[in-house]
Amino acid sequence: MFHERRINIKTPAEIKIMREAGRINASVHAKVRELLQPGVTTADLNAAAEEVLKSHGCVSPFKGYGHPPFPASITVSINDEMVHGIPHPKRKLKEGDIVSIDCGTVYKGFVADSAFSAPVGKVSPTAKKLLEVTECALNVGIEQMRKGKRTGDISAAIQKYVESHGLHVTREYTGHGVGKDMHEGPQVPNIGAAGTGILLKPGMTIALEPMVLVGTYETRVLPDKWTVVSADGSLTAHFEHTIAVTEGEPQILTVL
Ligand code: MG
Ligand code: MG
Repeated sequence: MFHERRINIKTPAEIKIMREAGRINASVHAKVRELLQPGVTTADLNAAAEEVLKSHGCVSPFKGYGHPPFPASITVSINDEMVHGIPHPKRKLKEGDIVSIDCGTVYKGFVADSAFSAPVGKVSPTAKKLLEVTECALNVGIEQMRKGKRTGDISAAIQKYVESHGLHVTREYTGHGVGKDMHEGPQVPNIGAAGTGILLKPGMTIALEPMVLVGTYETRVLPDKWTVVSADGSLTAHFEHTIAVTEGEPQILTVL
């Protein structure tokens, strides 16, 4: 099901560069977050993100990625859209929506990758709970990112936490190593068994990204070949950070 990719252990100097990439990525998020209100278009959000990236001399690894080439620098996914939503000048945010923003930054040849979901105005109690559980699931996963643990420990912790709240984690989309490439090894699924998988070592840099659904874990891809939606039309959320495994505490790279 998953392609195995090379795991690249980063030097402290490389992690420093990735930390800077992560800081820039976090500043993109901060800018987009400010704009989240009814009436703003998803293309407006992309334009604002591109402006911040440009001010740092950076680009997003998303633009031109894949087949067909992704046409924007961020993905904007609304409500039942889980990930990979394509910004569009006619698509407006509405009161009560929840919106997921994913962005990457390439800085000095290294990638930082992070995402968040947020409410637009006042949202339903279900949406609020979904946002809280998904963000906490990311933190629960990060807590496992320690030397000597295994990728399965992260996966199991995320799955257990989400399912204990009566919600569902995606089967098809996973966290991943990140560095010179946006997708490196190891793959870190959002489901799994503790004690299995790849041994975590200092210098590994991984983007963890729980994607959580209210109804079932099933998804489908829209005819635009990018947008992933919940199969049953229920709400979804997505949080992501790029994190370095160290000798001690996990280091979150994608913060200001
Ligand atoms: Mg991402
Ligand atoms: Mg990612």
